[in-house]
Amino acid sequence: MNTTFASLILPVPLARTFSYRLPDDMAARASVGMRASVPFGKNHTYTGIIVALADAIPEGDFEVKDVLELLDEVPTVRPMQLELWRWIADYYMCAIGDVMKAALPSELKPEEGKQGIVRVDFRPKMKPFVRIILKDELADAFDLLKRSQRQQMLFTTLLDRSHALQQDVADAVAQDELLRASGSTTDVLRELVKKGLCEVFEQEVSRLDAPLADDQLQPLNELSEMQRVAYRDICQSFRDHAVTLLHGVTSSGKTEIYMHLMHEVIGQGRQVLMMVPEIALTTQLCQRLRRVFGSRMLVYHSKLSEPERAEIWKTLLRDDARIDLVLGVRSAIFLPFRQLGLIVVDEEHEPSYKQQDPAPRYHGRDVALVLANKHGAKVLLGSATPSLESWYLAQQGKYGLVQLKERHAGISMPSIQLVSMADARKQKGMNGPFTPRLLATLGHALRDGHQAILFQNRRGYAPTALCPSCGWSPHCPRCDVALTYHKSTRNFVCHYCGYQTPWPQQCPSCGNPNITLEGYGTERIEDTLKQILPVARPIRMDTDTTASRKSYERMLADFEAHKTNVLIGTQMVSKGLDFSEVQLVGVLNADSLMNMPDFRAHERAFQLMEQVSGRAGRRIGQEGEVLIQCSETRHPLLHQVVRHDYEGMADAQLADRRKYGFPPYTRLISVYIKGRYEDRTRRLAEQYAAAMRQSFGARVLGPEAPGISRVKNFYIQQILLKMEREANPTLVRQYLNRIHDAMVAANDEMMKVVFYYDVDPVG
Ligand code: ADP
Ligand code: ZN
Ligand code: ZN
Repeated sequence: MNTTFASLILPVPLARTFSYRLPDDMAARASVGMRASVPFGKNHTYTGIIVALADAIPEGDFEVKDVLELLDEVPTVRPMQLELWRWIADYYMCAIGDVMKAALPSELKPEEGKQGIVRVDFRPKMKPFVRIILKDELADAFDLLKRSQRQQMLFTTLLDRSHALQQDVADAVAQDELLRASGSTTDVLRELVKKGLCEVFEQEVSRLDAPLADDQLQPLNELSEMQRVAYRDICQSFRDHAVTLLHGVTSSGKTEIYMHLMHEVIGQGRQVLMMVPEIALTTQLCQRLRRVFGSRMLVYHSKLSEPERAEIWKTLLRDDARIDLVLGVRSAIFLPFRQLGLIVVDEEHEPSYKQQDPAPRYHGRDVALVLANKHGAKVLLGSATPSLESWYLAQQGKYGLVQLKERHAGISMPSIQLVSMADARKQKGMNGPFTPRLLATLGHALRDGHQAILFQNRRGYAPTALCPSCGWSPHCPRCDVALTYHKSTRNFVCHYCGYQTPWPQQCPSCGNPNITLEGYGTERIEDTLKQILPVARPIRMDTDTTASRKSYERMLADFEAHKTNVLIGTQMVSKGLDFSEVQLVGVLNADSLMNMPDFRAHERAFQLMEQVSGRAGRRIGQEGEVLIQCSETRHPLLHQVVRHDYEGMADAQLADRRKYGFPPYTRLISVYIKGRYEDRTRRLAEQYAAAMRQSFGARVLGPEAPGISRVKNFYIQQILLKMEREANPTLVRQYLNRIHDAMVAANDEMMKVVFYYDVDPVG
């Protein structure tokens, strides 16, 4: 084929690719997946990815310009990744340029630029190294140094570290390491260089974790009888199901089983992706896997630096790099895998697998299924509390189902009890957010040397403040929400846009100087606990205190070492943590979990409570105890939690979902329209919904302003499309795209609002 034209994905929010002519010299070298820069519009230069090569101009593209430069010798993106990008753009109804932006590490990312090519590329990390220069006689060398003890010291260390006397060719030693080991300075080193005893040069180093030496690797744990049965059932299930759900109670050994499966697949020469929610990606889990899989494993999380991300990408692109396992968060689905044999999605029920903003608004678990399918790989979904979507498909026989109903080593499930806050209030017994029962049990456990976890789903100090005389309370000027008080910064903060304002001297509305705080966030719980229970040494874990991965890991290490004995936190404390001394778990306010305005609120509340309970009593001979504070003690959901009755919960919730037509019985697509002016936004949304009704009838709900109707000064309108599960998704999208095109053609105002879809919305 005489390739003369290339179609490119460009970083623009348009749902199409763009054609360019390839000059002869490039045409010979070009291949799909390479980056190229091209002129765009009047005076822009963009860099994009070649997705197709052709010998004729694709239809409809006229006025084709030339590619300016090919930026790669070998493709940066594999063909299968491009297929996945295309699927994501179609299914989640967003621009493929947006998918590309999300997928590529910025070091590799084609950047937009004005006038001139912006070269972005992976920069290897360089570090100074020292190489010893040995003359024939070692004695001569020492002779040169006899007047300086410090130089002798440095030289001896270099001799030792470079193995110069044991090997024919001495190793280069990292300069910083050498100086540290010898207690020297660069001045001393300079003297050695001057005397011709060594030289300093720059060498590329890896940004990735240093691998464990082979002798630190450990074999897999042997599976228990119960786990062996589950393992066998999973293998059996994979024969006729691409996807299998492993429903195993907390601490039943799901992770052990994953590791055995991974080992097996890796042995067949195929790669494994293990996905975890960001917050479950603890050092504990990394170390556990690292000990078995060593340097064949890479870890991919959101707090990596951009160069680290690019290095992981480049490493995986090399087919000779022996990377067998990637442990990663949602975005790891974008990595350039060679050949996947297995994807494990741990905690598959976690809502954080869904990306909310910006586009692509994809679900990591659901994309993983598509990715696996492209590779011919199997998928294992694991959870103690599966999502109702996955549970339903397993019940239907579409997924295989394997269950582990007991904890490992005969450890019993923690006993869960409800504590009535209503009763405590009646008896005037509440001590801040604590019932007397929780406080007494906590004191007892701590005095016995145990540890505890307290769960509250609100960060900050107090959810809001109130003027008792006029009812004023602080609201965000840009969003339709109350401000949360943060004591550490003495500010009221908006959790939606970050707006901050200091505590007012007096009520801005009536002048009353005594404004009071309402409710309890994690910060206030920590404060209160310190005041009323001296034996407590609490530490707080939420997004405010764990901004860096380091601080998060320090907290976990301190807790592990018993420097602290109560871990107070938001949902962050509900998973992935495996501490053997946690005897008590307290849930401070279960009602607030159940009363969220969302059709998944009860499912989610069950999952959170069951997961956080699962942190208690993970050691043999010490039964865990869980106290759930609530006002509505008779709520059926709470009794399902008490009995650890996942299946009872699932049956009841699925019956409701069927009755009211919610997923998994339907599929939802939210249409969002956001604008600066309330009237215009509302008017457009109404017209839009009317247009949708012409095609979809009563399946269209709204428009409606969501619970939080304004964020960052944008008014929000939402239209919900509820489709039968059986409806053909491609057709549905075709209709929606047609409606959108017609709306844009008929109405200039559509250009003045933000418009997007959220497919399979979560929360
Ligand atoms: P889950 O993933 O189901 O919560 P884990 O795999 O984390 O359970 O197991 C819980 C604890 O029990 C871990 O500390 C783990 O090391 C231990 N454990 C589970 N199964 C085994 C086994 N077969 N051999 C040794 N330890 C095990
Ligand atoms: Zn007032
Ligand atoms: Zn705000």
